[in-house]
Amino acid sequence: MSNPTGWKPRIEQESGTAATHPEVGAGGATSGLAHEERLLFEHGAANGRTGVSLPPAGGDFDPERELPPELLRAGIEGLPTLGELEVVRHFTRLSAWNHGIDTGFYPLGSCTMKYNPKSSEALARLPGFANAHPLLPPELAQGSLELMFQLERALSEISGFAATTLAPAAGAQGELTGVMMIRAWHVARGDARKRVLVPDTAHGTNPASCAQNGYDVVQLESGPDGRLHPETVRDAMDEDVAAIMITSPNTLGIFEAHIAEIAEIVHAKGGLLYGDGANLNALLGVARPGDMGFDVMQFNLHKTFATPHGGGGPGSGPVAVSEKLVPFLPLPVVVKEGERYRLVNDGKERPRTIGKLREFHGNFGMFVRALALIREYGPEGLKATAQLAVLNANYLRARLKDAYDLPYETDSLHEVVFTDKAQKPTGVTTMDLAKRLIDHGFHPPTIYFPLVVHGALMIEPTETESKETLDGFVDGMHAIAEQARTDPEGVRASPRKPVRARLDETRAARKPVLRWRPGMKVE
Ligand SMILES: *Cc1c(COP(=O)(O)O)cnc(C)c1O
Repeated sequence: MSNPTGWKPRIEQESGTAATHPEVGAGGATSGLAHEERLLFEHGAANGRTGVSLPPAGGDFDPERELPPELLRAGIEGLPTLGELEVVRHFTRLSAWNHGIDTGFYPLGSCTMKYNPKSSEALARLPGFANAHPLLPPELAQGSLELMFQLERALSEISGFAATTLAPAAGAQGELTGVMMIRAWHVARGDARKRVLVPDTAHGTNPASCAQNGYDVVQLESGPDGRLHPETVRDAMDEDVAAIMITSPNTLGIFEAHIAEIAEIVHAKGGLLYGDGANLNALLGVARPGDMGFDVMQFNLHKTFATPHGGGGPGSGPVAVSEKLVPFLPLPVVVKEGERYRLVNDGKERPRTIGKLREFHGNFGMFVRALALIREYGPEGLKATAQLAVLNANYLRARLKDAYDLPYETDSLHEVVFTDKAQKPTGVTTMDLAKRLIDHGFHPPTIYFPLVVHGALMIEPTETESKETLDGFVDGMHAIAEQARTDPEGVRASPRKPVRARLDETRAARKPVLRWRPGMKVE
C-alpha cells in the first residue's frame, strides 16, 4: 500500500517513555522523536487535493481582465497540492522533533528555562492586548499603556532601581542599552573614558556590548573560590575605566559576595557598576541589585519572568537604572498624568535620552506575560521562586557530586557547574555526556561554559521542576556515569534515539540541510 504522506516509522524506532524503556531510568523524561519527514515539496506533483472545500467566490471577478499581467502568476512548477490533514500532520510531526519546556526537563544553565504558565499565555492572547496596533492613539490604548506603566514600576521595585525602560528586545540589547547610557552619562560630564572591566566568568555578550560602544574590555580574573575579589578590581580601576560589568550570582552559580566593596572602589574613581541581571532568578524577593550599589541592570523577562524563549525571539530585556541615569533612558517612556497614561516619544521632552533602540514600544506580548506572572505570584511567590530555584540546584549538586567533578567547593545558588574530569580517563567527554542525556530524554545542560571551567556542564533546574523530575535526571546522570566506566564506547556513540545526531554544529547552523530523500544519508 502506498503511503502518500511520506511518513515512515524508523526501522529502529524505540517506543515508550523513559520509564518503560529498558535502557534508561524513570523520571517522566520524554524519549522518542523517531520518524522521518519529507519536505512538502517532495510529496509529489500536483494531485488536485486542496485544504479547503469552500465554494468559489461569487460575482463576475475575472483576474485576467482586472489585473495587470505582471501581477498574474501562471503557476509554480512542482507546487504540492495537499489536503489539510497532510499539512497539519507534517507540521505537527516536525514540531515534535525538538525538545521544548512543555515536553521535558531543560536544565540549560544561565538560560533559566523555566516553565511558562498557561495563565500568562491566556492573558497575552486577550484580543485587547494581542490585537492592539502599535500606532493606536494613546486615548485608545490606555489599558496597554497602564500595563506597561505597572510593569515598569514592578520591575523597578523588584530590582531596587529608580526607573526601567521596557524597550530592549533581549538581554543582549539590554546590555547594549545599559552601556550606551553609561557612555552618555560620562560624555555628559565631559569624560568619555576608554575601558570597561569584565570578569572572566562573564557571558560573551558582556564584552560584545562594551566593544559595540567603543570601549576596550579588560578581563579580570576571578579568585579560586569563583568570586571576583575587591583587590583585583582595585588594581585594574583607574580614571579611564567607565564601568565594571558583573553578573551576580555569576555564571558559576556563585554569589558575588563583595559587591558593596567593589562598588565603593569603582564609584570612588568615577566609574559605574553594570549588573548583568540574567541570573536574577536566584535573588528575586530576597535581595535587590539596586540596594547593593549597582547603577544599571538588565532583566531577561524570558528567563526570570517565565516568558517563552523563542527561537531567537521575541525576548525582552528591560533595563533598570539608578536616579543619575534616568535622564538618559531610551524612548518611549510611559508617564502617568492624573488618571491618564501618555507615551513620551520625543527627544524634545527628554533632551538627554539615548534615543530609540527599535521601532515602537518593545515586545509587548512579553510585557503581558511577565506582569501576569508577577501579579499572580506577588512578593511572597517571587521570594519562593528564588528559594526553590536555589534549593533545586543545591539538591542536584548534592546528589551528583559523587559521580561528577565539582570544580568549585563554594556554595551554589541557582545553578551548579560540574566537569568531565572524572570521566575523561575513559575517553568520555562533556560533549558525549551531554549527547547521551538526549537518549535519556533530557535536554543537555549548557556545556563548555563558563570558559574558565574545562569541560563545564552547567546545570540550572529552576524552581518549576518537581522532585520526581529532578530524581529522574539524577538517575539518568548516574546511569551515564556508570556507563562511562563500563561501556565508554556506548556513551561516545550516543545519542541513538533522535532522527539526527552529532551534526557538525557549526555547519548545521550556517548551512542547514533541509532536504530529505528516501535512503539519503545525512552526515
Ligand atoms: C542569557 C544571558 C545573557 C544574554 O541574554 P539574551 O536575552 O540571550 O540576549 C547575558 N548574560 C547572561 C549571564 C546570560 O545568561
